[in-house]
Amino acid sequence: MHILVTNDDGVSAPGLLALAQALRPLGKVSVVAPDRNWSASGHVKTLHRPLRAKEVTLADGTPALASDGAPSDCVALALLGLVEKVDVVVSGINPNANIGHDVTYSGTVTAAMEAAIWGVPGVAVSLDSPEDHQGALDVRDNWDYGPAARVAREVVERVVRFGLPKDTLLNVNVPYLKYEEIRGVQVTRQGLRVYRDALVRREDPQGRPYYWIGGEAPTGVPEEGTDFGALKAGYVSVTPLHLDLTSYEALRSLREWW
Ligand code: MN
Repeated sequence: MHILVTNDDGVSAPGLLALAQALRPLGKVSVVAPDRNWSASGHVKTLHRPLRAKEVTLADGTPALASDGAPSDCVALALLGLVEKVDVVVSGINPNANIGHDVTYSGTVTAAMEAAIWGVPGVAVSLDSPEDHQGALDVRDNWDYGPAARVAREVVERVVRFGLPKDTLLNVNVPYLKYEEIRGVQVTRQGLRVYRDALVRREDPQGRPYYWIGGEAPTGVPEEGTDFGALKAGYVSVTPLHLDLTSYEALRSLREWW
């Protein structure tokens, strides 16, 4: 079995290393990942500039390819022949949960979406960071990705055994707990994020305004049966996502407009 590992935090991120190491017992692991952080970059296809893929090594000596493309570009390059035939694509481990509407922003998730587009099973894995640590990069690098990596392996084992339906990917979120403290796995639906974004206006040295999308870290609605609900209750959340974004609920009412 040949597993492609990628992420959106960049090839040197500790979550990627933990994931690659955890998956190695399942087969051959190839790493093609971005050369920089593409978090919250959405689903990208780079068409108007060339893409590079540079040979690098991870902290444990594992050979990898670092591309100047987005996570989804990395997956496309790999599946189009940059590496040998891939059986499953695993993206992560992202240092923040990807729940609710996050999946539309997430580079971690869109890498797995790219796999689904090419008919290859895709799994996105994210760690639900301790809220008071969010954004603190120095702390983040010291997080223990071990439990989430072990969960990722257990999920990938099942994906390989059972397969995934067409156009479907798995969005996996793991609570920040010791492995023994995780209460189990819940198969969930997409929940609801609560964003607390705020416009931050500043001025450059020439007096011209510039803006940041600032504010506090997002929370979520901890409803039972959802991704966020599972995490808050101490469970791993496994959400099957589908590439068909049609609102079937709105189809009928919308047709009445004409
Ligand atoms: Mn990220």
